[in-house]
Amino acid sequence: MPSLPLSPVRTGGKLARISGQSLEVDGLTFEVRRSDRRKTLQITVERSGELSITAPTKVPERDLASFVEEKLLWIHTKIEEKARLQKRAPVKEFVNGEGFLYLGKSYRLRLMDAQLVDLCLKNGRFCLRSSSTHRARDVFIAWYTRRALTWFSQQVAEHANRMDVQVNEITVQDLGFRWGSFGGNRVSFHWKAILLPPRIAQYVVVHELAHAHYPDHSANFWLKVEQHLPDWRTRKSWLAENGIQVEGL
Ligand SMILES: [Zn+2]
Repeated sequence: MPSLPLSPVRTGGKLARISGQSLEVDGLTFEVRRSDRRKTLQITVERSGELSITAPTKVPERDLASFVEEKLLWIHTKIEEKARLQKRAPVKEFVNGEGFLYLGKSYRLRLMDAQLVDLCLKNGRFCLRSSSTHRARDVFIAWYTRRALTWFSQQVAEHANRMDVQVNEITVQDLGFRWGSFGGNRVSFHWKAILLPPRIAQYVVVHELAHAHYPDHSANFWLKVEQHLPDWRTRKSWLAENGIQVEGL
């Protein structure tokens, strides 16, 4: 693709540079995407922090720059937001002192030279056998999965009765971006759900069981949730805001 020479454009006192594919305003670089079908200008901040502006083919370049300038505050807010979300899910290193969540509490890791099992929770510490560190992630997931199966089985037994739901099977697995699922009298939970505080994990249980009555997220569905968990709204928003924290590992 031929690269066009940069042409400086003055907009509102700040220097903006425009090329065929990118636009630079206030130190930020935007990929410019032109489309005949578009009627309006749109700025996108990707999860990775990459910026783009989509514009109808005929809009002159200096209009793009002033549009971006008008939106600078919004753009910077979005960039900070994405950066914060990425920082909140650090990749685990499995070193001494590192914190690991279990039912909403963080427990420090201690590497053990001699230990019969790969991993155990003892005296408020996660004890990981040193020789198992090369497969520590799998070891943790297996531990969380076992604990989740026990904990969620108890919760389901407790709530299913009250909610008039028949559950034939409970499974714990990696559900990708979902905390749980319900279908065919089978309820599944993501193993990560056991990292959540108990009251939030309880909301996940009630949410999934309510799907036995309503498969969608209709008003009736939320009414059902509310019958059993009157403060579901605060739990739901906690999950939306903080759930990302438990995504590390
Ligand atoms: Zn749902």
